[in-house]
Amino acid sequence: MSSHSIVAKAGSQADSAKLNALKAFHSAGRGFWSNVSDTDWNDWKWQLRNRITSLAQLQKFLPTLTPEEHAGALFAANKLSVAITPYFFNLIDAADENCPIRWQVIPRGGEANTAPWEMSDPCGEDSHSPVPGLVHRYPDRVLMLVTDRCASYCRYCTRSRLVSNASGYDFHPEFDRQIDYIAGNKAVRDVLLSGGDPLLFNDEKLEYLLARLRAIPHLEFIRIGTRIPIFLPQRITPELCATLKKFHPLFVSIHSNHPRELTTEVRDALGRLADAGIPMGNQSVLLRHVNDDPLTMRAHVQKLLLCRVKPYYLYQCDLISGSAHLRASVRKGLEIMQELRGHTTGYAVPQYVIDAPGGGGKVPINPEYVLSHNNDRIVLRNFEGKIFEYPEARDGTPTKKALKVEEAEYV
Ligand SMILES: *Cc1c(COP(=O)(O)O)cnc(C)c1O
Ligand code: SF4
Repeated sequence: MSSHSIVAKAGSQADSAKLNALKAFHSAGRGFWSNVSDTDWNDWKWQLRNRITSLAQLQKFLPTLTPEEHAGALFAANKLSVAITPYFFNLIDAADENCPIRWQVIPRGGEANTAPWEMSDPCGEDSHSPVPGLVHRYPDRVLMLVTDRCASYCRYCTRSRLVSNASGYDFHPEFDRQIDYIAGNKAVRDVLLSGGDPLLFNDEKLEYLLARLRAIPHLEFIRIGTRIPIFLPQRITPELCATLKKFHPLFVSIHSNHPRELTTEVRDALGRLADAGIPMGNQSVLLRHVNDDPLTMRAHVQKLLLCRVKPYYLYQCDLISGSAHLRASVRKGLEIMQELRGHTTGYAVPQYVIDAPGGGGKVPINPEYVLSHNNDRIVLRNFEGKIFEYPEARDGTPTKKALKVEEAEYV
């Protein structure tokens, strides 16, 4: 055995130990809140009332707060508020400045740096809104923003222009106008409820909204986009699940970025949703310092399957103002996708997308697997880099001319 392969083997043993550690389900524990009763701790309203929202609280609960984070907390007040549920806060490793949980919810001074290509509305949502809070970008489906509040705030949020209302956007959805638009538009067969986080509504309000949507005959498919199962698993009560299951087919898209977010509490909450017959997908954002490495991402997607959630999208981080310190490169994203496809369960592989800046919608980005393609054959490479040929079928499909950049419309 050459010394090289010994090194490689030692490396892979270390990798599999790390992979196993990342895939373990841990309970979040109570930390600073060890005196709180079970009833309070497991009550989602208690968790919301006791969120960490001020600099003074950050200093108290996170004694290792860095000057960079201190500066971030001061700036956040006018940009995107700080709010962290005690449950999620306890996932932070206070001894580690680069804790992946910490990077997501504790602001940093970098939020004040804005590059010319960054935007307050990077996906051009406001310019695609026929009525306030309704984004109609694709022919058959709409995005319905129902609130500007979340259980905790993600520092890279693509909707930080309106979410938390720190910058004074004053978002007030008008459900009647939103629902009238969908009811009057027979082409809309799919609605995605988002915000903010729709699961912050109480059960009665959710039931009211979902019932009104289900009363629209041409509306086939309802989805809820939510990070509540991750930030506030206590909210996923049996009563909530019973409410949601009345409105099938109803899917839920959750948002988790790192395997450490998938605790026993989260696994159980997701299990309750799955038992209510709700199919679930996960949307991750590729974030520097958080999940920009293949081993972490592999552990994450495999752990999602254990939670009965299909990894759906991996988003390139949008060009939101003040997010440069959290953005990983497209090159890194492609490297990660290359390390997933073929190397793990196909169900575990999300689609990597860039939401085209300015409002082009989601564009799939893939490592190159097609080496050439003409009338006679397609030449492919597989996940191991081996090359294969497939003779083209003769079904009369005309050769598609490659779309040249001059022919394409450049936005
Ligand atoms: C992401 C998104 C959707 C849903 O897209 P899918 O690819 O169906 O998940 C719908 N509308 C808008 C505006 C979106 O950004
Ligand atoms: S949960 Fe979603 S909407 Fe809320 S802050 Fe995070 S990314 Fe933004």
